[in-house]
Amino acid sequence: MQKKLGNLVLDRWVDGDGDGKLLTSAVNGEALARISSAGLDFADILHHARSTGGANLRKLTFHQRGDMLKALAQYLMEHKKEFYELSTQTGATRADSWVDIDGGISTLFVFSSKGRREMPNDHVYLDGPPERISKNGTFTAQHIFTPKLGAAVHINAFNFPCWGMLEKLAPTLLAGVPAIVKPASSTAYLTELMVRRINASGLLPDGALQLICGDVGDLFEHLNCQDTIAFTGSKSTAEFLQQHPKVICESVAFTAETDSLNSSILGPDAVPGTPEFELFIKEVTREMTSKAGQKCTAIRRIIAPAAIAGDVVEALSTALGKIRIGNPANKDIDMGSLASQGQRDEVRDRVAELAQQAELVFGGSGDFDVIDADATKGAFFMPTLLYCEKPLTSSAVHSVEAFGPVSTVLPYDKLNEAIELSRLGEGSLVGSIVTNDNNVARELVLGTAAYHGRMLIINRHCAAESTGHGSPLPHLTHGGPGRAGGGEEMGGVRGVLHYMQRTAIQGSPQTLTAIGHRWIQGADQLDPGVHPFRKTFEQLNIGDTLQTDAREVTLEDIQHFAEFTGDTFYAHTDEEAAAKNPFFDGRVAHGYLIVSFAAGLFVDPDFGPVLANYGIDDLRFAKPVNYGDTLSVRLACKQKTLRADAGYGEVRWDAQVCNQHDEIVAQYDVLTMVATDEHWASVN
Ligand code: NAP
Repeated sequence: MQKKLGNLVLDRWVDGDGDGKLLTSAVNGEALARISSAGLDFADILHHARSTGGANLRKLTFHQRGDMLKALAQYLMEHKKEFYELSTQTGATRADSWVDIDGGISTLFVFSSKGRREMPNDHVYLDGPPERISKNGTFTAQHIFTPKLGAAVHINAFNFPCWGMLEKLAPTLLAGVPAIVKPASSTAYLTELMVRRINASGLLPDGALQLICGDVGDLFEHLNCQDTIAFTGSKSTAEFLQQHPKVICESVAFTAETDSLNSSILGPDAVPGTPEFELFIKEVTREMTSKAGQKCTAIRRIIAPAAIAGDVVEALSTALGKIRIGNPANKDIDMGSLASQGQRDEVRDRVAELAQQAELVFGGSGDFDVIDADATKGAFFMPTLLYCEKPLTSSAVHSVEAFGPVSTVLPYDKLNEAIELSRLGEGSLVGSIVTNDNNVARELVLGTAAYHGRMLIINRHCAAESTGHGSPLPHLTHGGPGRAGGGEEMGGVRGVLHYMQRTAIQGSPQTLTAIGHRWIQGADQLDPGVHPFRKTFEQLNIGDTLQTDAREVTLEDIQHFAEFTGDTFYAHTDEEAAAKNPFFDGRVAHGYLIVSFAAGLFVDPDFGPVLANYGIDDLRFAKPVNYGDTLSVRLACKQKTLRADAGYGEVRWDAQVCNQHDEIVAQYDVLTMVATDEHWASVN
């Protein structure tokens, strides 16, 4: 009897009841494990996630969760050898496994870094600046995001058992939401191994991660409005699950990543002999064969100018003919097997459907060499290329997804035909364009972007560093409209916000400052007691305010600044010319002179806890400053972000520069680094 995959439920490893389903190696058909989730109490699983996992995660700030993801990524890196070994059984070559395993772990690193750089060291994420909604500003509004109080149910596809889990897990945990992961059965053994290591690391709090190996039983019956479903798989399963009565009546957030007939368009300029033609052939070949074409982002439709479509077919056939297929553990192999025999049979059927409307020009179901493996036992499939003579009137090539190393060449005459062909995919995860003509690139992007979640334009200038058509990046959104599911994942902080609720908060500026920990115009201005630059990070209070003395701007100042900096723009140096400008009635002070004088007014010069000024945000010059005007500054401590273990924190100051009539002439945020008590004590 094969071992059964464990289910991680209520922080314990539990076997499902019964014999379950047998999982076999994609390479040699040998039995690997059994899988069953029978007998699990799915209501309990959800309850544990919400009450224990969510509560534990919400105690942590975004930065602490980011640190947790980094530690987890480092831990998984140390164990990756065993993931690679097992990954071979899914049919993946080392390069395929690298995308799945290293790619997945690097997603944790990126989200860790984004969380610590772009989110506050706090529990509330502020969505943009406050909204002015009252005349006097005593009643204001701020959009905020807080973690949903439910569980995130992740249902994943079979093709990336590690990346598929980690790309959803990273933003979920960063949001402060617990996850229940349900991997696709056929490759769940690799996900289970990784979850065993994650669990053994002890890095995640109790309840933050649970794993269901097998079906999800009656889990959907127990969902509520605080839960989220993130699904990856076929369109038909997504539609079925989206129509579950609980999903509908509880308005459960549902994001779907489904089938995609991605296209790549070769520009009319990219004729044989150009670098772009070579790049196109290389990119399409790689996309067709990496992971044996089992990538949701793979190129399924090759849109090429009719005049050179024959060259494209010939060049691709030559390139595909060089692909060595076989045992993925063998280093000489370019392409392994599909993930299961069932999957191979499925791809065969889909190719037969495509062949009704397109001509088979390479591969197909004929005999082919399989190196170091038994073709009758493994799920091997030959790279297969089709050619569709009349793609505008053929529906199958735009709707049948053969989830393997299969693609069809579609010829076009005019650029608008290429656009139409691309759109016929009815929504894709990614589309690429290979051209060195930027006008062609713009026309194609404007014509097709609405049908795509991501677009990649490749030419000789960026090819060497291009991450490729088929690689979703954690920084960029992954998802697409229509057939692709209409969902969005990753995309940095955007992906985190899927697991959080946006709420518009209205109230007094002081109340909103207390909730969001960011000082809002109109909130209390506190007397800091001493100059705020003499205070350490801990001693500073949000709202500590300095009102400076006033300083007159003279004509000599403006002249001196112009000569000293070299900025002799006429508005500062030529009275007559300046007066002709609709915004000025004579020579005015440089904006940077205003900012420099402001610093001269608010800075406390002596050695102190303020370590450095690292920038300015949102600088606006509201009114011209003429010579003879008098400037003063109101500087308020706006937001504090502690950098754990760094000895300092970032302090954002709200700076408002006014003239003698109390009119705002400049407004901006000054960004500083301020020493912590500990660091300050150590240098004094
Ligand atoms: P699938 O049959 O839809 O399965 C996807 C996931 O849904 C699996 O975990 C599966 O579990 C689960 N599932 C199936 N029926 C379910 C139900 N009634 N209740 C709850 N869960 C259910 O898709 P697949 O054939 O495995 O995956 C291939 C498809 O995924 C392709 O069409 C591909 O385009 C798409 N895909 C899309 C993306 C993307 O990011 N857009 C990425 C990868 C793959 P079991 O395995 O246990 O049945």
